[in-house]
Amino acid sequence: MRILVTGGAGFIGSQFVRATLAGTLLSPPDVRVTVLDKLTYAGNLANLSPVSGDPRLTFVRGDITDACLVDSLMTGHDAVVHFAAESHVDRSLVGARDFVVSNVLGTQTLLDAARRHRIGRFVHVSTDEVYGSIERGAWREDTPLAPNSPYAASKAGSDLLALAQHRSHGMDVVVTRCSNNYGRYHFPEKMIPLFVTRLLRGRTVPLYGDGGNVRDWLHVSDHCVGVDLVLHHGRAGEVYHIGGGVELANKELTGLLLDACGAGWQNVVHVPDRKGHDRRYALDITKIQEELGYRPAVSFTDGLADTVRWYRDHPGWWEPLLERAEPGDEPRREDFLPSGPPAP
Ligand code: NAD
Repeated sequence: MRILVTGGAGFIGSQFVRATLAGTLLSPPDVRVTVLDKLTYAGNLANLSPVSGDPRLTFVRGDITDACLVDSLMTGHDAVVHFAAESHVDRSLVGARDFVVSNVLGTQTLLDAARRHRIGRFVHVSTDEVYGSIERGAWREDTPLAPNSPYAASKAGSDLLALAQHRSHGMDVVVTRCSNNYGRYHFPEKMIPLFVTRLLRGRTVPLYGDGGNVRDWLHVSDHCVGVDLVLHHGRAGEVYHIGGGVELANKELTGLLLDACGAGWQNVVHVPDRKGHDRRYALDITKIQEELGYRPAVSFTDGLADTVRWYRDHPGWWEPLLERAEPGDEPRREDFLPSGPPAP
């Protein structure tokens, strides 16, 4: 089996590649993996270093919007697992263009090439953010999309394009929508790695608004188990939710991170709320549980402890990613964003 993994040098894609090659997922031992990744600020070859010597892995640096490259790479592959995306909401609020280009045009470029090459299965990895915000209860896979941020809107567009390939052309496409991931190798701009890497250095952390925004948290390895189940056993043309069932308000999560890093509330700076900040996300995961036997295996307590320990033990991974100066007098959340590593 040969799998083309886009965005395989990012946080989740690299976990999927490492687990696939380690044999902990469903693909056979003779699986071969091609990673296509542009190595944007979020892409990092160090995420693949544990498997970089594996002869079953081929890495190609390139852009999913490059139709010629994408077309040439499809040959010989049985499946595409599509993770590549601009993925950070805060950055999409500063500038949305790259999100539209990579997430919408890039996805369509891959879909066109996969259809031309009659690829057996195309898994499009998406997010719960496409549904907007929900006060109570949980979204089902047939809930109408109502994205609020440019990031979520670009992902919603790509989801619909992927599903349209199935409806219009009969292509074997499956869409997954997952809640917030956390774990090792997470670029330090998202809440958990941003807070941990700052707290470990004795710095302050930015808490949005009243801290009451609620997210469902899932360990990245459980997300990849779900994507892999869908890859091997999901039904064509379907959407599957992948969630963790651990709902936390940002201020509750902040308290846990302060404790884990040996810091206190004096390290927290309250910053004005994110524009259009969705209040709560919640996924109903009955479908993937009943159809595919999916169960998240990592408890939040264990997963968070492992994650904090990993960041404590691996400053050599994240320190080069921190280049941003300290915030000014009126801190905004984007003042805390690292600018990312220099282009390799
Ligand atoms: P990430 O930002 O860590 O990684 C994205 C990867 O895609 C990077 O390696 C980057 O270099 C690559 N990339 C970006 N644009 C590209 C392009 N035009 N061509 C080729 N490569 C490109 O993101 P992540 O957190 O690993 O997310 C992966 C996928 O999962 C995304 O599609 C995201 O929408 C989805 N998702 C993420 C989460 C989460 O909590 N992080 C939750 C649900 C869904």
